[in-house]
Amino acid sequence: MEQSRKGWFGEFGGRFAPETLMGPLIELERAYDEAKVDSVFIQELQYLLKNFVGRETPLTFASRLTEHLGGARIYLKREDLTHTGAHKINNAVGQILLARRMKKKRIIAETGAGQHGVATATVAARFGLECVVYMGKVDMERQAPNVQRMKLLGAKVVAVESGTQTLKDAVSEAMRDWVTNVGNSYYLLGSALGPHPYPSMVRDFQKVIGEEARAQILLAEKRLPDELVACVGGGSNSIGLFHPFLSDFLVRMTGVEAGGRSSVPGEHAARFDGGSIGVLQGTQTYILQDASGQIQNTHSISAGLDYAAVGPEHAWLRDQKRAQYVNVRDPEALDAFHLLAKLEGIIPALESSHAIAYAVKRARDMTKDQILLVNLSGRGDKDLNTVLEADEGKKHG
Ligand SMILES: *Cc1c(COP(=O)(O)O)cnc(C)c1O
Repeated sequence: MEQSRKGWFGEFGGRFAPETLMGPLIELERAYDEAKVDSVFIQELQYLLKNFVGRETPLTFASRLTEHLGGARIYLKREDLTHTGAHKINNAVGQILLARRMKKKRIIAETGAGQHGVATATVAARFGLECVVYMGKVDMERQAPNVQRMKLLGAKVVAVESGTQTLKDAVSEAMRDWVTNVGNSYYLLGSALGPHPYPSMVRDFQKVIGEEARAQILLAEKRLPDELVACVGGGSNSIGLFHPFLSDFLVRMTGVEAGGRSSVPGEHAARFDGGSIGVLQGTQTYILQDASGQIQNTHSISAGLDYAAVGPEHAWLRDQKRAQYVNVRDPEALDAFHLLAKLEGIIPALESSHAIAYAVKRARDMTKDQILLVNLSGRGDKDLNTVLEADEGKKHG
């Protein structure tokens, strides 16, 4: 399953950007095309993934969860055990090496929940580069500990007060900064989104998840899993898991979006359920918009899944029927959060809890000799306040 035109996945993707960014995007594409086949670049990336990020991450057999459900054998790919606690660091490490290679001195990033901001501030500190992170004012209040982390790491966090003061607005501000400072600045985008080459490049840096998982399950079970499961925000942890299995046609793939509170517009982030094709922030894909093309508000209990557009490669995989997409509501994700903590001794990120929630439903319909491989994209320490508040609400509500 190859891309037909560079930067396009069928009718999805492309490079929709203002004239002033076309040059920089082409420069970035060239630099990346050179770097990815350069053995020095590859070796340095591998060194950092091993010695800084902490790869490879384990593939854990969830024995008590499996027993509890009485169906398929469930394995967890442990991205929660990476440095900074989520898969985002895989991409941040790759792009910081590219930025250095391009002799850029200043790193720009956007962040919603703050996980990508923390990963970027971390690698910028590691390489001694200046770092500016754009974050919606509302998100800064919701994710105060991550704001503190970024500051400790030496990054400047800029509060974005336009629009809904969340991720979409932070992306716009980051792009505006890049247009203005393109000579010395590198825009380190956090998911498999945006104009070409970002969706392909971010996927390449996240493919390590699926490559490791494929080898690990073959070692543990002497065969491939029956189904892969991952949550889908912008789509980077899921495409990273899925991609190395794309030509294993017997392996089913399921992406899990945030179903939020309900299917009413504004109360979820299920782009494949309530969305339609359009262009947002550089790429053509499924987006949540109204009849006149205005971007709709989104909601999810997990900030990392709370975005109006989905990565273009997922839109294509869905069109090709190579992957299927479902959504899980806030309360189901919360239940899965508690279940995994109690049964496996692992506190998952609320984003990852969406994937767990689907797996819980799905495993019961599968037989005991089948295998479900779930990506645990991050750890849940950042979500403790949200979960405790939601639990309180349930008690009193
Ligand atoms: C950011 C984030 C996500 C969602 O982003 P993707 O690009 O879809 O992977 C999922 N899980 C965690 C833990 C995150 O931090």
